[in-house]
Amino acid sequence: MSDRAEFLIDLSALSTNVSRLKKECAVDVLAVVKADAYGHGLVRVAQAALKAGASYLGVALLEEALTLRENAVEAPILAWLVSPGSDFDSAISNNIELGVSSLKGLREISESAKRVGKKALIHIEVDTGMTRGGFLDEWKELLTEDLSQVQVIGVFSHFARADEPGEKQNTDQLQKFKQMVGELEKIGINPPIKHLSNSAATLKDKDSYFSMVRVGIAMYGLTPDVIHMGTSKDLGLRPVGQLRAKLHLVKEVSKGSPVGYGASAHTTSDTKLGVVAMGYADGIPRIAQGAGVLVKGKRAPIIGRVSMDQFVVDLGSDSTAKSGDWVIVFGDGSHGEYTADDWGSASSSINYEIVTRIGPRVPRIYQSHEY
Ligand SMILES: *Cc1c(COP(=O)(O)O)cnc(C)c1O
Repeated sequence: MSDRAEFLIDLSALSTNVSRLKKECAVDVLAVVKADAYGHGLVRVAQAALKAGASYLGVALLEEALTLRENAVEAPILAWLVSPGSDFDSAISNNIELGVSSLKGLREISESAKRVGKKALIHIEVDTGMTRGGFLDEWKELLTEDLSQVQVIGVFSHFARADEPGEKQNTDQLQKFKQMVGELEKIGINPPIKHLSNSAATLKDKDSYFSMVRVGIAMYGLTPDVIHMGTSKDLGLRPVGQLRAKLHLVKEVSKGSPVGYGASAHTTSDTKLGVVAMGYADGIPRIAQGAGVLVKGKRAPIIGRVSMDQFVVDLGSDSTAKSGDWVIVFGDGSHGEYTADDWGSASSSINYEIVTRIGPRVPRIYQSHEY
C-alpha cells in the first residue's frame, strides 16, 4: 500500500462490464487499452479484458502494442496511430496489426514487409466524416495501389458524435462507411473485420456493430458523455477505478484566512482544513473548482488553488478527520463521493481526461486477485 495516494482498480468490475457489453452486442469486442488502459494499467487490464471475453486489443501507439507482447500477451493487437518512420519491422515481426491511413504509411509498411519476409496485417482506416484520421483525399489512389505485401484484414472508421445518439452525423458516417467498404469490395478487397463503433455506439446504436466493436471508456465503467447519455449508473456500468489520497494535515483556521497560491479563496467561517497529498503532478486538474473529496462519509470541497503535490479541502468545523486519514477523491459515487464525471465537469473537461491523466507517481493497486 502506498503512503499517500493510490488508484484502486477493481478488475472484477472491469470483467463485469466487458462480459455484459460482449453479451449485449454479440459481436467481437476489441478492448481499447491505449494510454495505459485509460490510466488503469495496460497489462493487467488487457489480461482481465481478454479473460472476460474480449478477443482483440486496441492501442494507439506501437510501443504500447510491443509492451503487451513483451508481457506475453498473445491476442491480436491493433495499433492505429503508427506514424510514418516508425519501427514497422518490429511491428510485423511481433504480429502487431497496423491501422493505415496514408499512402506514405502504407508504402513504408510494404517495404518493411518485404524486408521482414512476412505480409503485414493491416486495417485500412477510412475518414467517414470526423475529419481526423483515415483515408480521404488519397482514397481514390489507394484503390489503385499495390497491396501485394499486405493482408487487409480490417477496415474501420471512428464516430465523432456517437455520444450524442440521434445526431444526423452518426447516420451520415454509417452510410459513408458502407459506401467506402463497398468500393473496397469492388476492387476485390473484402476485409473480414469491419469495425466502426466506440463505447457510445456500442451502448446506443445497434446498426453500427458490423463484426467488431471497439470499447474503451465503457469497459472502465464510465459514461461516454454524462450530459447526453447519463451517468455510469444510468447505463448500468460499474466504475473500475477509485482514486484515494491521504490527508497530509488537518488544521483549524479562523474565518477570513487566505488559502493557497494567489490567495484566490478565503475561509468564510472558522473551520478545519485538510491538506490532501495529491496535486496537479498527480493529475488533479489545477482549474478544478466545485469538486472535492469524501472524508468520513462527508463531502469536503476544494478551497483555493490546486498545487503541484497537494490541495486543500474545507472539512467544516465539526469534522473529526485527522492527519493520516484516507479520503476518496473519486469513485463510483455509491458512498456519496465525487465521481470522475464530477471532476470532469469541475474542470471543464470529461471523465476520459481525468482518468488518463492520473500521474505515474500514483501506484495502481489491483483489488481483485483472481486476475
Ligand atoms: C480511443 C478510441 C476508441 C475508444 O473510444 P471510447 O469512447 O473510449 O469507447 C475507439 N476507437 C478509436 C479509433 C479510438 O481512438
